[in-house]
Amino acid sequence: MDLHKEDDRGSAKQKKVKIVFVIGGPGSGKGTQCKRIAQQFGYTHLSVGEILRQEISSGSETGSMIQKIMKEGKLVPSDVTVRLLQQAMQGINSDKFLIDGFPRNEENVKAFEDLTKMEPEFVLYLDCPQDEMEKRLLSRNEGREDDNVETIRKRFKVFMESTLPTIEYYESKGKIRKVDAGKSVDEVFESIKVIFSQGKDYNKVPPSRHKCKCLIL
Ligand code: UDP
Ligand code: MG
Repeated sequence: MDLHKEDDRGSAKQKKVKIVFVIGGPGSGKGTQCKRIAQQFGYTHLSVGEILRQEISSGSETGSMIQKIMKEGKLVPSDVTVRLLQQAMQGINSDKFLIDGFPRNEENVKAFEDLTKMEPEFVLYLDCPQDEMEKRLLSRNEGREDDNVETIRKRFKVFMESTLPTIEYYESKGKIRKVDAGKSVDEVFESIKVIFSQGKDYNKVPPSRHKCKCLIL
């Protein structure tokens, strides 16, 4: 991605942009924890779900396509998602981005790498038991069209089938930092704080030792 910055004297200077992805099942607490991380560690928080919902609100044709897909709990085509994400990043002057709810599948990963030529520093994985995620989604009331039992079940299925392989991919690259996200907001944030303050290797999951709590379908 062309995120070149100009210094005070106006000379073009390449600035290293740091990216952290935050993934986890629906209701695992990504949005809640990302707000806290952003505040405490100075990241710019971008929720890809929110970016897609903004596109729906704009009333564009792409927006109505996205709305249909989201209602069914499916994934928006990667070229659309990555283009919107890249536009959002380019419009913000920041060198630390926390990308919430992305990538969701291997195609997302490839599209992101191809288009931006960037890789995340690490990937925070909020691992939460499915019954807890379902309870949270059904008790929150954000007016989301996809927070109903039927769509929630479909989103879980997409998470297991499409997103877990991306977690394995990043695990093989030593980039997964996993926390137990089934606890209270404060307790989960305590574990996250350790990862963000102790350097990027803390809580690193060794390749192929990973088991997730969400596999209780
Ligand atoms: N979505 C998508 N690609 C993304 C992020 C989100 O297609 O990279 C769509 C997908 O339909 C998903 C919905 O947006 O079910 C809501 O995503 P969000 O992250 O807001 O919610 P979550 O399910 O993680 O609570
Ligand atoms: Mg969210």
